[in-house]
Order: sequence, then C-alpha cells, then structure tokens
Amino acid sequence: MKKADVVVIGGSAAGIPAAITCRRHYPDKSVMLIRKEKQVQIPCGIPYIFGTVNSPENNLIPDAAVTGKGIDLLVDEAEKIDRKAKNITTKSGEIVNYDKLVLATGSIPLDLPIPGLDKENVFKVKKDTPYLHNLLEEMKDKRDIVILGGGFIGVEFADECKKNRDVNVTIVELLPHCLMMAFEDEFCKEAEEVLRDRGINLITNVKLEEVLGDKKVSGVKLSDGRTIKADLLLVAVGVKPNVELAESTGLETDRGGIVVDSCQKTSDENIFACGDCTSKKSFFTQKPSGLKLASIATMEARIAGANLFGKRRENQGVVGVFSTCVGDKAFGMAGLSEKAARECGYEPVVGQAEAPNRHPGGMPGMSAMKVKLVFNKKSGEIIGGQVRGGHSVGELINTVSACIQKKMTADDIATFQLGTHPAVTASPIAYQLVNAAEMAIDNLEK
Ligand SMILES: Cc1cc2nc3c(=O)[nH]c(=O)nc-3n(C[C@H](O)[C@H](O)[C@H](O)COP(=O)(O)OP(=O)(O)OC[C@H]3O[C@@H](n4cnc5c(N)ncnc54)[C@H](O)[C@@H]3O)c2cc1C
Repeated sequence: MKKADVVVIGGSAAGIPAAITCRRHYPDKSVMLIRKEKQVQIPCGIPYIFGTVNSPENNLIPDAAVTGKGIDLLVDEAEKIDRKAKNITTKSGEIVNYDKLVLATGSIPLDLPIPGLDKENVFKVKKDTPYLHNLLEEMKDKRDIVILGGGFIGVEFADECKKNRDVNVTIVELLPHCLMMAFEDEFCKEAEEVLRDRGINLITNVKLEEVLGDKKVSGVKLSDGRTIKADLLLVAVGVKPNVELAESTGLETDRGGIVVDSCQKTSDENIFACGDCTSKKSFFTQKPSGLKLASIATMEARIAGANLFGKRRENQGVVGVFSTCVGDKAFGMAGLSEKAARECGYEPVVGQAEAPNRHPGGMPGMSAMKVKLVFNKKSGEIIGGQVRGGHSVGELINTVSACIQKKMTADDIATFQLGTHPAVTASPIAYQLVNAAEMAIDNLEK
C-alpha cells in the first residue's frame, strides 16, 4: 500500500506540469505520478523520429523532469479507481491512496471504419516507444509510403519521411487542401507548394476507401477510382479522449472527454482532469471545442495543479494555438481563421503585412514573414491570426495568442512597445504584427 496527498495518472504534456504545478503551489504536499510506459515520448516530436532526430531515444522526456522536482514516479498502469476509499489499484496489484487525484490519461488514435486497416504495415501515430521503433525499422526497406490525413501531423510525417530516404511519399486528404482544418486557404496553398517541391505527392479532395493487399498492404483504393501503390500506410487522422478509467469509476464524460468545470474539477470534487482526456470549450463561443493540443494540455494542467486545494486559477476556454514546419517554412495559427470567425457569427475584418524578419534584409537567416490578423468588427478585438515565415513564426504566433487572450484591439497592437534587433527581428518600421493591425484599422473604420 502506498500513499500520496496528490496522485497524477499520466506522464506526458498534461500529467507532468500538473504534478510540478502542485509541488510549486503546495510544497508541503506529497505528489506521486503514475504512468504506464517506461519511457515517455515528446508527443509533438514524434514525426521528427523519422528524419531529423532519427530515433525514438532522441525524442524522450527525461524522468528527471518529474523526479528532479520531488515527485515520486511509479511506472505502472492504473486499472481501477475506488472513489469512496480514495485509492487506485494498478496492473501490478499496487494500491495507492490519494487525497486529490488528477487524471491526465490523454488520447488514443481514432479507429476508422475503413476495410483493410488491420493489414500488416499499416501503422497509427502512437506515443509508444517500442511501436515507434518498429515503425522506424519497417520504413527501412519500404519504397511507397502513403499517409492518410493531411493535417499537421500527416504533413510533418511526410516531410520527415522524405529526409535521408529515397521513397515515394503520398498524402491522401479528404478536404480540398492539406492543413485546411486550421489554416486559411492561402497559407495551405503555400504549404502545399513546399510539399510538392520536396517531391511529396498530394492527393486531396478524395476519400481513402479500402486498404489493398493480402496479409500486407500493397496499395490503397480511393473514392475517385484510383489505386495508389503502398508498402506502408500511416494513418494520421486524429485522436479520441482516453476516458476508459474515468468512465469505469462513474465520472461524467461527453463526446469530448471527461467533463470538467472551469477549475478543471470533474464531477467528483476530489478528482481533477486535464489535457487530451478532457472535454473543452471554445474561448470565443464557450461551445464545445474538439481541439486537442499540447498547448491546451499544459495550460489546463497548470490550472488543475494550482486548484487542487482551493481555487486559484480559471480556464477561459480554448484559443487554439500551434505552429508547424514544412521544409524550411513555418506556419503558425492562433484563434479563428476568417472562415471560422464567420462560422462563429462574427463579422471578421482582416489586416495583413509581409516583410523580412531581419533588418536589413541581407542579414543571415532572413526569411519573408507574413502576418494576417482577424478582428471582430463589432468590438474591434483581435480573434485570430496566422503567420508564415522562418522559424521565428513559432514565437510570433504565441504573441498573437497573448493578444487574443488579452482581447487587444487593433489600436492596442499598433501601439504596443516591441523590442527589435537587426539579427533577430523585423525592422521596427516594418514589424509585421503592428502593420497588419494598422491595415485592419483601415478596414475596421470603413
Ligand atoms: C505526432 C503528434 C504531433 C503533435 N504535435 C503537436 C504540436 O506540434 N503542438 C501541439 O500543441 N500539440 C501537438 N500534438 C498534440 C499533443 O501531443 C497532445 O495534445 C498532448 O500530447 C496531450 O497531452 P496529454 O498528457 O493530455 O496526453 P498524452 O500525451 O496522450 O499522454 C497521456 C499519458 O497518460 C498515460 N496513461 C493513460 N492511461 C493510463 C493509465 N491507466 N495508467 C497510467 N498511465 C496512463 C499514457 O501512457 C501517457 O503517458 C501532437 C500529437 C501527436 C500525436
């Protein structure tokens, strides 16, 4: 029998910061983290195992992230929660008592009803080290890789699979463009251009109807009648919340996952939940949001961890912010695209600016950076933004997200004080974020 004041189940993007935040806010409480895998993959780094970092071992979250913060680590699977007795039974038969429990059990790949998905050499995107080793090994003698799904995970996989490998890579995407769930059409088209330049075949606007082959995959049949040769198929089409444990103990769940309030508390006052396993609401509409991102998981974890023994933080809803890389270009999005804004009932007003991200433009590492901002005509507040450029996109889109969360107007953004330097930013005169806001002011006043 073991005991900790706080037990966290799950050791990834949500579980770790939940445990660390609890230690920071309540240093006198003992914290134990239970996770089932021996080694934890950095989930967002998984595509890079197949190119840039070249091995699952080079993509691990070190255990020191947990143990170095005074948190006890138990590698075991939580199988049962007894809410009355306030304990957890693990697969190895251990019983762990808790005062407060945090569920951070994450998500698992979606199961699609496509015939043939059970064939050999059909893989899903699993956050599982031995599985990823096997996938990397299988890729060694393959020539025709098909990726189902042109979202950011499918696109990143395609790009990485092409690195250091002489293979044909094809993305099959149901929507008219890759990345279309998140990005404006113009950004999707730019990303597609880079993918094509990298030799990746894009087949969009079609459904993958059947996986062909006897025991092993030999090809895929598409809804337009075409057949594509494949000796490896990677299914990258999304996830569902992992709620088995929560449901088996009678916690309230819905389609999005475990139901939580704005403090991340579940239907049991001693149990909190955060990350991909929880149901989410949109920052803009307070309606259900299907987004599952590491940025959301960590934010929710820092709320859950702080609120365990009294309310200290509140979740305002999901903004949705992330970046992706294709070749040497990066794309970032935060909040609503122009189209999504309209669907949410806003009258969107946009402003756009493009300039080099160094000054003068001849400085090393220069790339052209484009910023598009979306404002709500009625309130004048920013509700979305998209950025394309070099690697500095990742930080700029986070600034856009902060502007959205703080409900800044175009005037606020146009006049905020920004730091610049020739080697690391755009010129203060041509600063894209400010100029995109200025362009929107023109349109807001019309
Ligand atoms: C390939 C890929 C790339 C991604 N890239 C990005 C990106 O660039 N940016 C971004 O914001 N998001 C990205 N995401 C999404 C992001 O990875 C997830 O939102 C994030 O991992 C969610 O974290 P989580 O801790 O809630 O869940 P998970 O990462 O799913 O972790 C859940 C953990 O709980 C453990 N667990 C579950 N059940 C039990 C149990 N019963 N007992 C013990 N342990 C248990 C699991 O083993 C796991 O360790 C990506 C996802 C993938 C798959």
